[in-house]
Amino acid sequence: MTIFVPLIPFRHMNAENTNTAQDRSLNFLEEIIQADLAAGKYQSIITRFPPEPNGYLHIGHAKSICLNFGLAIKYGGKTNLRFDDTNPTKEETEYVDSIKEDILWLGFSWAGEFYASDYFEQLYEWAHKLIKKGLAYVDDQSQEEIRLGRGTVTTPGKDSPWRDRSIEENTDLFTRMRNGEFPEGSKVLRARIDMSHPNMLMRDPLMYRIIHADHHRTGNAWCIYPMYDYAHGQCDSIETITHSICTLEFDVHRPLYDWFIEKLEIFPSHQFEFARLNITHTVMSKRKLLELVRDGLVTGWDDPRMPTICGLRRRGYTPSGIRLFAEKVGVAKRDNVIDLSLMEWCIREELNKTSPRYMAVLNPVKVILTNYPEHEEEFMTAPLNPEDPGAGERQIPFSREIYIERDDFMEDPPKKFFRLRPGGEVRLKYGYIIRCEKVIKDSSGRITEIQCTYDPDSKPGSGTWRSVKGTIHWLSGKHAVAGEVRLFDRLFTEPYMGSIPEDKDYKDYLNPDSMKVVHALIDAQAAESANRAVTGKDRTRTRIQFERSGYFVPDYDSEPGRPVFNRICTLKDSFSKTLNQP
Ligand code: ATP
Ligand code: MG
Repeated sequence: MTIFVPLIPFRHMNAENTNTAQDRSLNFLEEIIQADLAAGKYQSIITRFPPEPNGYLHIGHAKSICLNFGLAIKYGGKTNLRFDDTNPTKEETEYVDSIKEDILWLGFSWAGEFYASDYFEQLYEWAHKLIKKGLAYVDDQSQEEIRLGRGTVTTPGKDSPWRDRSIEENTDLFTRMRNGEFPEGSKVLRARIDMSHPNMLMRDPLMYRIIHADHHRTGNAWCIYPMYDYAHGQCDSIETITHSICTLEFDVHRPLYDWFIEKLEIFPSHQFEFARLNITHTVMSKRKLLELVRDGLVTGWDDPRMPTICGLRRRGYTPSGIRLFAEKVGVAKRDNVIDLSLMEWCIREELNKTSPRYMAVLNPVKVILTNYPEHEEEFMTAPLNPEDPGAGERQIPFSREIYIERDDFMEDPPKKFFRLRPGGEVRLKYGYIIRCEKVIKDSSGRITEIQCTYDPDSKPGSGTWRSVKGTIHWLSGKHAVAGEVRLFDRLFTEPYMGSIPEDKDYKDYLNPDSMKVVHALIDAQAAESANRAVTGKDRTRTRIQFERSGYFVPDYDSEPGRPVFNRICTLKDSFSKTLNQP
């Protein structure tokens, strides 16, 4: 059952009603941990983040990272990074490296770096221990036979004909499985629990299967690999993880997690489940994200439209923005779908306070100020960031030929249009008031130039202040730099990608307009920050507000003299109100 989180609460968030980690009530995991510590069950807590290195991390993983590391930090414990690398055919070192980079970038560091494969020998010995206790057996049935023998939710399973093999025979066969004597699929090791257990996962689950494949770390040392359920709890136990936090779908696995630990008589780690993070207008499974990359539907794992951490990083999101988002999402016990605009709200909050303001004209049209002296230039003064008085001021060059947004002029505007119109006046932000005198068009009717006059007495800070209804942004043609600006929209048109009809493919919902590339004019000082970003190192990238257009960051594709900017988000929430709540 999925619940949908209402849009209202965070749209009206502001500094006063924004709860922080300190002043909100405890979530259920914090309650458990506090009770465990108070009862003296543990001296201190240990959590872990256990990614499978089979893809890049996404925002859902970020949630899990913030939760695991955040709890340990809050309660003075520690967090291990453990790669769950039990499936050699899907795992790669490239992914290991990217995962580490992403966690560090999010601002967390792990106590120990471990790999499930570090524990293969121990896990193997423990499997023998279970065999000796009569709690595991080698099964020769085919995959299909095992599947059928498992029964259904309403009918009990059937014992395998190999279930009652002697301990000696099982020990011998399992040793020979390890020694590589059998082909893939010919044998598996199963736990001997109960073929009519109401929980299907307890019906003699697989512990080991034969895979003759090279592993990214252990090479060809092994040809049997432990199943997730057999490996995970035991790895937790080896590391004395006190609180093993995973997503809700694993709650049915918990009895098995506990069973192995109990029968092996090892450190009792405990598993706790929380709702996985789902976000509107995107998909989050690594399989689907991989497919988008492989099919060229996005430009790569770090495409700024992707929900991956590297995509968000390239897009210009900050670690603190993502951490705030994880905090706002909270820890739920029921699955829910979070509106993408909450994530944007979190980053916008931060960027509003921190980003310097500049102007860029995304769709420029030329304006000539006919009464402004031909070779004259002057500067307009503007605050670098009105939210931060300490940020100081900037000087904006001004000249006879300027550019404004094409949309800021209308020849035949509706009543409430307060920007430039024939015969009308508008203020150039931080500059003069101008009046439109004449419009020049090419043969196709497209406006190529707008001729205006300026009012020399209207410069802010001089003369007498006169107000006009509209204010628009602009750049001096001579001083602006041409560059590319990439405007992003939701990757999918459908908000609830988890509930699309069965006969549809998620790719049917790709938004064809999710990226718009425009050739813009950019303030030269802002463009300079892109020059510094060409190395592709995030710390050199300054996040900027282009007034009225949104928050932007130089993209890695920038080249000296040819800036490329990504729009991180717009200034206001532009689309959450269009969401249809089911
Ligand atoms: P996916 O299904 O997206 O491929 P996964 O669960 O297979 O992800 P893992 O590498 O196994 O990915 O996940 C590492 C950790 O991150 C696990 O503890 C998992 O529960 C957690 N995690 C993965 N996706 C989410 C999510 N959407 N929300 C919260 N936690 C998540
Ligand atoms: Mg997984």
